[in-house]
Amino acid sequence: MTPLEPQAALRALPKAELHLHLEGTIEPATVVELAARHGVTLSEAETVERYRYADFRGFLDAFKWVTSFLREPADFALITRRMAEKLISQNVVYAEVFVAVGILLLRRQDVEANFRAIHDAGEEARKNGVRLRWVFDATRQFGPDAAMEVARWAARLKAYDVVAFGIGGDELSVPAKEFRAVYDYVAGQGLHRHIHAGEVGGPQSVRDAINFLEVERIGHGIGVMHDPSLIESLVSAQVPLEICPTSNLFTGALARQRNNPGAQLEDHPLRELYRRGLLITLASDDPAMFHTSLDAEYAAGLRLGLTLDEMVHIAAWGFVAAFLPSEEKTALLHAFHSQREALGL
Ligand SMILES: [Zn+2]
Repeated sequence: MTPLEPQAALRALPKAELHLHLEGTIEPATVVELAARHGVTLSEAETVERYRYADFRGFLDAFKWVTSFLREPADFALITRRMAEKLISQNVVYAEVFVAVGILLLRRQDVEANFRAIHDAGEEARKNGVRLRWVFDATRQFGPDAAMEVARWAARLKAYDVVAFGIGGDELSVPAKEFRAVYDYVAGQGLHRHIHAGEVGGPQSVRDAINFLEVERIGHGIGVMHDPSLIESLVSAQVPLEICPTSNLFTGALARQRNNPGAQLEDHPLRELYRRGLLITLASDDPAMFHTSLDAEYAAGLRLGLTLDEMVHIAAWGFVAAFLPSEEKTALLHAFHSQREALGL
């Protein structure tokens, strides 16, 4: 058997995706469809135009705009089904997906009815080969009271595969320590603790998240590249970072971290962070909004100079870093390694 090209080999491996926003998976054609359901006429070209940003705030505005067309359970069911199809087509067998519950609450939408539609669509997807679990995401700039409300919903709906609570949004808006009571509550409810940190913020933002909130996994975390001692402590504590290279490029996070407005993908610290021993998983973040996919992120890893063996290692870490009980993790890893051997990797 001729060995597969590295990119094809990575595509053929079963993978986990641990940093994916449901609302960021809505392709322009689906935005048009959703808008039409609610009496708004949009063209695909207009949507594509909205999916271009000058900076991080511009991206957050676009995110808010696209979620304005999510109004009832059928809308959420549709986008969940489409997301699942895309994941299955890339051999993603397990995903932990953020739901922007902070935004649902801001719009005074029915969290339970909409989330039940998401969950039911997820159950359908399970039959087709992808297991979906959910992370309820609060929006940082809405502050600690709004975040607590999201945390309460996560606890209330825990039986529907909600595994964690997290915070996304504008990292620079409210200091981590103000969310301490929220994360204490979350831990008391038996949920995992997640945060977006070190995306546009520096190492202190990641330190604060670890020290004050005891988060178990960091979304992005590329800001740690400026602080070797923080890297060492993350390595010894085995706190995984979910790295999303294309997202960092499109939001301007990479330009900011590199202090270079012209930063390109080649300037991404993925290889450096991996080789310093950090537990890295690769993810696509908001794939439709960043014109990417998990496959494309794996291809980017190769382009950034990681070897095929290193990329296979990173793929396995997607399961290692999952918020799963150890027996489920072991089963997924076992299937992963069988397929890896079958592919001669
Ligand atoms: Zn994210």
